[in-house]
Amino acid sequence: MFEYAPAPESRAIVDIKPSYGLFINGEFVDGTGTSFKTVNPATEEVLAEVAEASDADVDEAVKAARRAYTRVWSRMSGAERAKYLYRIARIIQERGRELAVLESIDNGKPIKESRDVDVPIVAAHFFYYAGWADKLKYSGYGETPLGVAGQVIPWNFPLLMLAWKIAPALACGNTVVLKPAETTPLTALLFAEICQQADLPPGVVNIVTGAGDTGRAIVSHPDVDKVAFTGSTEVGKAIARAVAGSEKKVTLELGGKAANIVFDDAPIDQAVEGIVDGIFFNQGHVCCAGSRLLVQESVADEVLERLKRRMSTLRMGDPLDKNTDVGAINSGEQLKRIRELSEVGDAEGAERWEVACDLPTKGFWFPPTIFTGVSQAHRIAREEIFGPVLSVLTFRTPSEAVEKANNTPFGLSAGVWTDKGSRILSMANRLRAGVVWANTFNKFDPTSPFGGYKESGYGREGGRHGLEGYLKGEAS
Ligand code: NAP
Ligand code: MG
Repeated sequence: MFEYAPAPESRAIVDIKPSYGLFINGEFVDGTGTSFKTVNPATEEVLAEVAEASDADVDEAVKAARRAYTRVWSRMSGAERAKYLYRIARIIQERGRELAVLESIDNGKPIKESRDVDVPIVAAHFFYYAGWADKLKYSGYGETPLGVAGQVIPWNFPLLMLAWKIAPALACGNTVVLKPAETTPLTALLFAEICQQADLPPGVVNIVTGAGDTGRAIVSHPDVDKVAFTGSTEVGKAIARAVAGSEKKVTLELGGKAANIVFDDAPIDQAVEGIVDGIFFNQGHVCCAGSRLLVQESVADEVLERLKRRMSTLRMGDPLDKNTDVGAINSGEQLKRIRELSEVGDAEGAERWEVACDLPTKGFWFPPTIFTGVSQAHRIAREEIFGPVLSVLTFRTPSEAVEKANNTPFGLSAGVWTDKGSRILSMANRLRAGVVWANTFNKFDPTSPFGGYKESGYGREGGRHGLEGYLKGEAS
């Protein structure tokens, strides 16, 4: 054996300021409200003091967005708008390392994920929608923008969710007011600087930081024409109620409880990699995480044995270490939620197994965990844990797998592992999920629409379908 040599990425590339204002009308301004702190969840170090936007600040941001919409952005040709989006995409690539390091510091996710997954897909999203800006007449949803979009995003993929929201909105000619999550505001504020660097006309993008109240002020603002939200089903329902009866167009991307289904003819080692990727990628803070493993009874013992062996090799710790597979839980609050629901699993009689490893003494950590002996009625099989916790159930026939997979209020994603192409197709047809991956998991591409059924929300993001939520929708 050899000693483990850490390989931390330098944080010298990022310049975190002691305090941040709001980005309104192309400038950073002091808010009229209070402020809050954002911390590094791996160390609990306070990173910066960030302005909490008041209702008056949100109103200023919406006014700036409206002015920019009427006077500049909606009058500009699609080809001109595209130039700005391409420029933003290129700057994101150029400043990719800075964005990745900052994302890992503020969010806790491993640098190899922020560097190799989040940031490249963010750039790809801007490139992709830049390509649509002058081709909207082929979209099938008309060419007329809605106006001002109010956008509220969660903390699990701060920059990626920002890209999913802002790129299609701008490509279609809308302007935006976006609120990042309270625990992860820093990359959105760096994105604001990138907008300045790209000479984006003032007011086209406004970033207002804050907590739930700021989000509420955005979605209920009377001069917002479109509400785009990603987050919990609970808040999504509250937003749907708040905008009901208004003219606002709404898209909601909410929670999930995906089944990852492994048949006995699947290549087991690949399936094990897919199970690990499905639930331990991004500490399981993934709306489409494969948090329910459905494994065919005849191979269950073998799959579980190999899964435990593989989990024992996962390296947990410093998010900036290039070898780290599993980083920190994003907040103390989220850690508490994961612990509580896991304890419910114990009380319900499921059997807990977790990776034996030394956890850092500072910060928020939860070891990769699986529960076996889980039945469909258990809360750990029904509720979203949003952490590195997998519930394992078994099945005998494909129909039983479909029935169990669909036995959930959610319907965001699913995975199917089998050697048979015909089975993949028949399963995909029967699974009530927005995305079905076959012999892979957690694959994201800007050309591919993403979104849910049932309580996972409505509307699609990504691909041509992603334009629908930002256009008036007259038949072309
Ligand atoms: P959350 O509490 O719903 O928060 C999401 C965002 O909404 C945050 O910016 C939050 O501000 C804000 N917010 C809170 N209350 C609000 C209100 N009444 N009106 C308007 N905005 C409000 O969710 P979370 O705990 O941050 O994120 C985890 C959840 O998001 C999970 O359930 C997960 O499944 C879901 N999610 C879904 C997708 C998807 O694509 N379907 C993607 C990622 C995450 P604060 O920052 O202050 O809380
Ligand atoms: Mg933070």
